[in-house]
Amino acid sequence: GSPVRYAVVTGANKGIGLETVRQLATAGVTVILTARNEKRGMDATSLLHQSGLSNVVFHQLDVQDMESIRSLAKFIETEFGRLDILVNNAGASGVVVDEDGLRALNIDPADWLAGRATNVVQDVIKTSYEAAKICLDTNYYGVKNVTEALLALLQLSTSGARIVNVSSLRSELRRVPDEQRRKELGAIDTLTEEKINAILQQFLHDLKNDALEANGWQKMLPAYSISKATLNAYTRILAKKYPDMCINCVHPGYVNTDINWHTGTMTVEEGAQGPVMLALLPQGGPNGCYFDRTEVAEF
Ligand code: NDP
Repeated sequence: GSPVRYAVVTGANKGIGLETVRQLATAGVTVILTARNEKRGMDATSLLHQSGLSNVVFHQLDVQDMESIRSLAKFIETEFGRLDILVNNAGASGVVVDEDGLRALNIDPADWLAGRATNVVQDVIKTSYEAAKICLDTNYYGVKNVTEALLALLQLSTSGARIVNVSSLRSELRRVPDEQRRKELGAIDTLTEEKINAILQQFLHDLKNDALEANGWQKMLPAYSISKATLNAYTRILAKKYPDMCINCVHPGYVNTDINWHTGTMTVEEGAQGPVMLALLPQGGPNGCYFDRTEVAEF
C-alpha cells in the first residue's frame, strides 16, 4: 500500500476540526489531534479511539503560544520525522456576546449560546478590542506562526505537502468596502507579509479610535472578516513560495457549531468535506486557490 501520511489539525477538540480529524483518520491518515486545552483535546481523542480510530494521537497546541507551537514541532520531529498535511482550522470570532443584553430580553444566555433559543439577536453581538485582538492573533498570526514552525517538517513529506487554511466567505474581496484595501489584498504579485501586517495594525488602530466605519472596514464581524481576508492573502504568498506543495484556503460552509452559536445550517460532516478534500489532494493538485466548500471560487 501507500506510505503512512501524518496530519496535524488545529483547534480539533470540537466542531469542524474534530470532524476533519475523524474523516482523515477514517481515510487512513495518522492524525495529530491538537487542542489548546489538554482535557478537551484528550476527551475528543478518547471518543475517536472508542469508535475504533486508533490512528489518532493527541498533542496540546495553543496557536497563540510560541512555546506550545515549538513543543508540537519537536514532538512531530521526534515521533514521526516529517509532516504531510497541516489543517489550520482553529478560529476565533472576534466578538463578545452581551449576556446582560440577552437577560434584558428575557433570554437565557446559556440557551442562546447553545442555539436553543430561536431569537437571532444581532444587537447582542459586539466587537470589543480584546476579542478583535484575539481574533487576529488566532486566525492570522496563529496560522502564520504554526505554519512557519512546521514548514521544515512539511518539506520532508514524501507524498507532497498539503496545507489547508480554513477561511470564510467573509474573507472574499468583493466584501471589502475600501477600494484601495481591496486592491492591495488582491494584488498577489506585489503583496507582502509586511503589507498584511500594516493592514492589521491599521485595523486595530481604527478600532481603538472608534473609526471602523469611517475607514471602510466591514460592518458585520469586522475583525473576523479582515483576519480571514489576510489569511487568504498569506495563503497565496506561501503557495507562490512553495510551488511543489498544495496550499489552499477554504470556506467550509455555514456550519452548525459553537462559533456561530449554532445558527449554522450545515452539519460538521458537510463542513469538513472541503478541508478534507484539500488535505488529500493528489500530486499536481491546485495550489494557491480559494474554495467554497469543494469548488474553486473567486478570492
Ligand atoms: P468551533 O467554535 O466549534 O471550533 C473552534 C475551534 O478553534 C475550537 O476547538 C477552539 O478551541 C479552537 N481554538 C480557538 N482558539 C484557539 C487557540 N488559540 N489555539 C488552539 N485552538 C483554538 O467552530 P468551527 O468548528 O465552526 O470553526 C472551525 C473553523 O471554521 C474556524 O477557523 C472558523 O472561522 C471556520 N469557519 C466556520 C464557519 C461555520 O459556519 N461554522 C464558517 C466559516 C468558517 P476551544 O474549544 O478551546 O475554544
